[in-house]
Amino acid sequence: MTRKIIVGGVPIGGDAPVVIQSMLNTKTTDVEGSLAQIRQLAAAGCQIARLAVPNMEAAVTFAEICKESPLPLVADIHFDYKLAIAAAEGGAAKIRINPGNIGGEDRVQAVVEACKARNIPIRIGVNGGSLDKRLLEKYGHPTAEALVESAFEHLALLEKYDFYDTCVSMKSSNVPTMVAAARLFREKCDYPIHIGVTETGPVRMGLMKSAMGIGSLLLDGIGDTIRVSLTDDPVEEVYAAKDILKAAGLRKEGVNIISCPTCGRTQIDLIGLVNKVDAALKDCQKPLTVAVMGCVVNGPGEAREADIGIAGGDGCGLIFLKGQPVEKLPYDELLPALLQRIETL
Ligand code: SF4
Repeated sequence: MTRKIIVGGVPIGGDAPVVIQSMLNTKTTDVEGSLAQIRQLAAAGCQIARLAVPNMEAAVTFAEICKESPLPLVADIHFDYKLAIAAAEGGAAKIRINPGNIGGEDRVQAVVEACKARNIPIRIGVNGGSLDKRLLEKYGHPTAEALVESAFEHLALLEKYDFYDTCVSMKSSNVPTMVAAARLFREKCDYPIHIGVTETGPVRMGLMKSAMGIGSLLLDGIGDTIRVSLTDDPVEEVYAAKDILKAAGLRKEGVNIISCPTCGRTQIDLIGLVNKVDAALKDCQKPLTVAVMGCVVNGPGEAREADIGIAGGDGCGLIFLKGQPVEKLPYDELLPALLQRIETL
């Protein structure tokens, strides 16, 4: 089991459930816009949000945002230790910084002291795209071994000052590399790991890469917190993260829809119906399996494990509960009837 850290009241690691994170794409200097996006993320199910803090002006507004935020906030900082200290003083729940990149051990010590004084954990965020030149020369390119070595170099700097309240990410845009890096790291130590594929490309492929990379690790029992990086609205990252957790069997809340691929026996607009069921139940938190099947011959049987379902007929359909038919209805009445029954389950 990994070590546990606490980020603004949210436990990461140990026996805690896998935590969903996302990152804002608003300007941190836009306090109202950032707060609006944090509220959207929270409503979608995000548990921790990260903001870029690229300069002192952003550090000041980051502190203002922290005061009003419904979620614990992570300050994302590159290079400037003064920004890390300002974010810690301003209410950050976690600081993401790489101590090897901030120039001098006195600076590392200053950041460690600012975090220790407030019980603020640090995330070391190693990224294949910005790996140290020395490691690139040693390994030829950003391999899993290079990412892990980089993570341990940064960790050693924090451990030198007795700081262990750390989690680590080793991200790459290459799925096999990020999976191998996390596996290798997990063999060597018990720091919690933040997992995600980075720079994932257009949304469809981004979802594929994230599901593969994050999903493979979760099935191995690796990964304490996840961020799905998508070139899209961050709220979509949260929905995708929830779906990956659900598919990996790690999230019971929310509806799991099973539906058949359709075939020559289908006589209703099943694809349209599945999309409508999905949209209607997107925010339903009941731990239900709902089946939407194309025919009464095979549908209820194939979906025997579902709590409730629809099986299509010729312009009509059956509602069934645990594989047993309970009601036959015209096509247009199927969706409202299904939703009404789900209300009562
Ligand atoms: Fe075809 Fe019926 Fe199976 Fe759907 S449930 S794929 S319609 S046989």
